[in-house]
Amino acid sequence: MDLHAQRRRALMDRLGATAAAVFPAAPVALRAIDVEHRYHQDSDFLYLTGFPEPEAVCLLLPGHPKEEFVLFVRPHDPERETWTGRRAGVDGAIATYGAQVAYPIDQLDEKIGAYVSERDRLYYRSGRDPTFDQRVLAWMRQWQLTRPRAGTGPTAVLDPAEFLHEMRMVKDPEELAHLRTAIAITADAHRAAMRAARPGVHEYEIEALVDYTFRRMGAAGPAYPSIVAGGPNATTLHYVTNDRPLTAGDLLLIDAGADFAGYCADVTRTFPVADHFSGPQRAIYELVLQAQLAAIAVIRPGIRHEQVHQRAVEVLVDGLIDLRLLSGDRQEIISNERYRPFYMHRTSHWLGMDVHDVGLYKVAGNSRTLEPGMVMTVEPGIYIAADRDDVDPQFRGIGVRIEDDILVTSDGPDVLSAAVPKHPGDIEAIRRAGA
Ligand code: CA
Repeated sequence: MDLHAQRRRALMDRLGATAAAVFPAAPVALRAIDVEHRYHQDSDFLYLTGFPEPEAVCLLLPGHPKEEFVLFVRPHDPERETWTGRRAGVDGAIATYGAQVAYPIDQLDEKIGAYVSERDRLYYRSGRDPTFDQRVLAWMRQWQLTRPRAGTGPTAVLDPAEFLHEMRMVKDPEELAHLRTAIAITADAHRAAMRAARPGVHEYEIEALVDYTFRRMGAAGPAYPSIVAGGPNATTLHYVTNDRPLTAGDLLLIDAGADFAGYCADVTRTFPVADHFSGPQRAIYELVLQAQLAAIAVIRPGIRHEQVHQRAVEVLVDGLIDLRLLSGDRQEIISNERYRPFYMHRTSHWLGMDVHDVGLYKVAGNSRTLEPGMVMTVEPGIYIAADRDDVDPQFRGIGVRIEDDILVTSDGPDVLSAAVPKHPGDIEAIRRAGA
């Protein structure tokens, strides 16, 4: 059984034999009339089918004697295929993707009634495609009408996330292989950027180098718009304008990750445009690095996700007190979140097919316990805007974030993005070698 079949089997066992589940492919997104964005398949759909095309629907019928996995797809159309490329077609949906039966997508409304009217609940995640939501509502109205005489038909639409997204949180071997490739490509791009940055080069030139490296190495492209933020721009968390020339006194913050085979890397490095850190830059950098290393070190099965953030905050607060950027009692600063003018985001999110991957952070009111196979970022930072006149002037305009991608294993943290230098001596070495 291939991995997609194993995933469908595992999901169907959880859904139970009286349920049906519908997963539509992502709609095509338009950039302008007649111009489509590069197609990005819906992650749930891709996870369950491996099917890369738009205008497709996966129907799962757990326990159906012959047709547990039904695909609706675009049929062959020689003229359309001349314009937009080969389609798997109904035959390919069966032969290549393992559907037990497949139909042209335009038969969806006609065929789904008979399949689902024998089931008592329908799993479908609404809110992602309003047009498809309307379609599901129309089916439900139809089943309401036929139910009194048929005696069967779904009475509830439920969110499959509680089963499916729990499965996606713990990565299987194929997923880990794709993630490792996405991260290896990302590491190459960050190292190339570290070698290429110098005064006078614009942020967008570095962005182009990063995105070029992703594509050259076989990634689909950046998993999110690359942040290339020189000097004070690094204190803007989601800076993507990327149009400023770098100057010798800047730090350069790059937050960029490749999308490979549907899996996302998410890595941030901050390094000097000169071949060494200035004193104040290095003080802030070493504090963020210390917080990041300490936060990574607590990662192991059984700890709560929240502890990673707590550890980072403790180290950052101690350091901010030492640097006289904060004063007072550590506990009081943490309870009142007085560190937030310097560190205003969370330390970690799940990573996988989505950059901010699916899965609960809290279960029954408590922070989630880590398990082997989960993948998460660890990304503390310190951001001191240039106009912060309440802060010692030597630190103004400094923004530092360091982000790695971590696999939880029974032996502890596996830093998947370790190939990107982050210790100041290693960074200064690659800067001098590249210049
Ligand atoms: Ca991130």
